[in-house]
Amino acid sequence: MSKVIIQECDSYDTANVIEKINSGMDLIGGWKTFVKPGMKVLLKVNLIGPKSSDTAAVTHCEFVRAITKILKGIGCIVWIGDSSGGAIAGIAPTARSFEVAGLSKVALEEGAEIVNFDRSGVKECIINADYGDKLYLAKPVFDADLVINLPKFKTHTAAIYTGAVKNVFGLIPGLKKAEYHKLLPDPKNFGCMIADIHENCKIKLHIMDGITAMQGEGPTAGDVYNAHKILISEDPLALDTVALKMIGLDVLDIPILTAARDRNIGQWKLENIEICGDYDSPPELKTFKLPKRFGSKKKQNYKVLIKVIDFLKTRPRVNLSLCKQCNMCVESCPVQAIDKQTKSIEYSKCIECMCCHELCNYKAIDLKKDNMLAGLMTKLYKGKYK
Ligand code: SF4
Ligand code: SF4
Repeated sequence: MSKVIIQECDSYDTANVIEKINSGMDLIGGWKTFVKPGMKVLLKVNLIGPKSSDTAAVTHCEFVRAITKILKGIGCIVWIGDSSGGAIAGIAPTARSFEVAGLSKVALEEGAEIVNFDRSGVKECIINADYGDKLYLAKPVFDADLVINLPKFKTHTAAIYTGAVKNVFGLIPGLKKAEYHKLLPDPKNFGCMIADIHENCKIKLHIMDGITAMQGEGPTAGDVYNAHKILISEDPLALDTVALKMIGLDVLDIPILTAARDRNIGQWKLENIEICGDYDSPPELKTFKLPKRFGSKKKQNYKVLIKVIDFLKTRPRVNLSLCKQCNMCVESCPVQAIDKQTKSIEYSKCIECMCCHELCNYKAIDLKKDNMLAGLMTKLYKGKYK
């Protein structure tokens, strides 16, 4: 049996967040179960790219401030770490992402240290997988006495949902992440790599920032949804199971969680999860929007709809009227399918990883169904879409 605590929290007011997290932690033995004075604690945030905390694309800086204050109060040394996706001029934008999210400022004000996984070394982990026999993971994860995973509650156009289980992908430093997208385009296989990371890191505590969540075209181009929830668990899969239930989905709907289920990364059946805190069952997040390509949860037959819609391939297209020519998509595409000059996409190369859509800071990459009608429309609107 795993426990998931759901706390209602209507703002990022520091005192409010601290009170909610502390009372939630008391339900799993309190902070003393996890930390002691002097321990080095790494807060693994979700820092997908250079996005402000207000966009709900990253773990909110004020959420991180609250947890940092708690840990500093106990006498811990606090590190705030991640590696962002994408690249500009061959460099991952992690350093800038810490600034834009407000995390550098929070670290400075609260006496924490920013740890950029792109620059802090790696540990070689031996694995037994079809895609390779080694994983290189950020060294600070192994240097810390405790890692606390701080995922953001978000939709994901490629994975449908991203939460506690998937957040560990950022433990792979820098541009190496793009290699895994290329190597493992199938979500189920990608999920095997995510499960490998969990098995090597054994993160003991997961606290999800769902005060604001991202709905619609996440993980970066969606809208803010005021979910007003904090989820706490020692079990990342149980936490995701509960979060998914809140938006009308099931773990079985999420292919990248298949390996986590099969390899007992955690509990995924609600009957094996005890829910406590401000709720004793998953509260429904009414009107929450899923990514368009997966239909609306409001439709009774949405599972059938998902299958039908998924049958039609979804392809990214650059909307030139919004494009700022930053080339983040060009440099981040793991198979170099995007032309630098024209921004046209070579679909024979494209592996539909949706990294370009995920990493464009200007919402300039649309996702279009590749059916005959879409093909005709593309021709008609040749000037708009390349
Ligand atoms: S589509 Fe987006 S990421 Fe690509 S060049 Fe244009 S603005 Fe940059
Ligand atoms: S064009 Fe976009 S979706 Fe296709 S492989 Fe490149 S980054 Fe992935």
